[in-house]
Order: sequence, then structure tokens, then C-alpha cells
Amino acid sequence: MPLTLPSERAKHRSGIKLGRVLVVEDEGLISETIGLALTDEGYDVVRAEDGRAALDLIHQLKEAESSGSFGMGLSVSQLSNRSLDLIILDLMLPYINGLDLCRLIRREGISVPILMLSAKGSETDRVVGLEVGADDYLTKPFGIRELIARCRALLRRHHQFQVQPEQPAIKYQDIALYPQECRITVRGVAVSFSPKEFKILELFMSYPRRVWSREQLLERIWGPDFIGDSKTVDVHIRWLREKLEVDPSNPTYLVTVRGFGYRFG
Ligand code: CA
Repeated sequence: MPLTLPSERAKHRSGIKLGRVLVVEDEGLISETIGLALTDEGYDVVRAEDGRAALDLIHQLKEAESSGSFGMGLSVSQLSNRSLDLIILDLMLPYINGLDLCRLIRREGISVPILMLSAKGSETDRVVGLEVGADDYLTKPFGIRELIARCRALLRRHHQFQVQPEQPAIKYQDIALYPQECRITVRGVAVSFSPKEFKILELFMSYPRRVWSREQLLERIWGPDFIGDSKTVDVHIRWLREKLEVDPSNPTYLVTVRGFGYRFG
């Protein structure tokens, strides 16, 4: 099933960073132009002007990731691969050239996508670049639009291939919720739920018997920016009961805890 994501520009406007890109290029003007264009697109950009500096940076980011210092307020899925999402690597660099650097990165088991840049356009360079582990290759001079398009394609492909950990079904009596398939069965029958209803039920079923106040539910499901009142919660609970309960007026799954809120089970 294709994922429907907000447009990348829209995400940028809403302050969501699309990923961190490392630009390794010794020519200041080119490095700066690429950096500005990517920042404008909503990427987080870090730059290194030679192979050695790039390698140091990669190691620092890797360490920061494993020590969890990027983990503040991030969920596990956001945290994975948070340190670096893409490397744009120029072929001609001081100290360690692009090919050797690419080889070293791959030898360390780092699978971040690499887009290689080169002034040389020969087939051999391209082939060697790809052989040492680059994912794509762009010949200078190139248009910035093309560079952005290649970056997007690489990131998309990479994210598609990242293995999602298997999430088991959450079951309670004769109700089963399959988080990855966005599917719920009630007494063995598939029942359709809106995304909000799904999220609410997922939360309830993840914490059986825990009491949630309306305010807590608004905060967790609708988010802190939601403008509206707690009646919204009651309406959704009613809809959920109609789908879950044998007798919605005498609920046994989604129970009202008078004066406090609701609980599941
Ligand atoms: Ca160069």
C-alpha cells in the first residue's frame, strides 16, 4: 500500500525535518549552494570540506546516535537512522578522496545512501563509484533541481527498504487490533474504523484497565494544539462503542469511570 505523506514542502513549513544530509565537498561555493538548496527544501545539512573531516563527523554522529543524545522527545521509529540520512560525496577531495571514503564508510557497515558527485563524466568513473558502494552518481555541472530530485529519490528508496520491526496484534477477549495493518476484528469480523478511532482504541488496548481522562485523551490523540472541548472525546467513545460493544448502552469494553474518564476492559 503506498504511503500518503504530506508534501515535502508542507512538512518543511510545519517544521518537520526531512532528514539530515552530509555534504562532503572542498569547493566552498558548490558546497554552500548545495547546503542552502537542501536547507530550503527542509533538510538538516551538515558540511565537511575534506575526507578526513567527513569521516570524523560520521563517527561523531554515529556515537551520538548510539548514546541516544538525539533521542530527546523522539519515538523509536524517528530515532532509527536519525544521525544521518544521506551523504553527498564529491569524488575529488583532499586527504581521502571520494572513492576511498565511500569504501571506508561501507566497510564500517554504514548503509546511509550516498550520492557521488564528480567533474569527470566517464562511464568508468560512474561504474567505479557504484562499485565502491555509492547509490547514485551525478556529473558536474548539474542543476540544483536535479540534485534535489536525486536526493529525494534516494531517501525514499532507503526508507522503503528499512525493515520495520514486526508489531504483534493487540488482543483482548474477542477483539484484535493489528497495528501495522490498521485492521481491527470484532468477534472475528473485520470492522472499519476511522484513523482517530483506531488511534484511540490502540491506546486503550495497549494499557488495559488504565483510566484515561478526557484531557489526557485529547492530548495524546488530538495533540496539544487541538482547539475544541472534551465532548469530542465522548462522541468518539460513543462511535467506538457502537462498533465494539454487543450492547452499546451497557458497555463492557469501553467503560465509563465516573468522575475520571474511560478505561478499556
Ligand atoms: Ca572537489
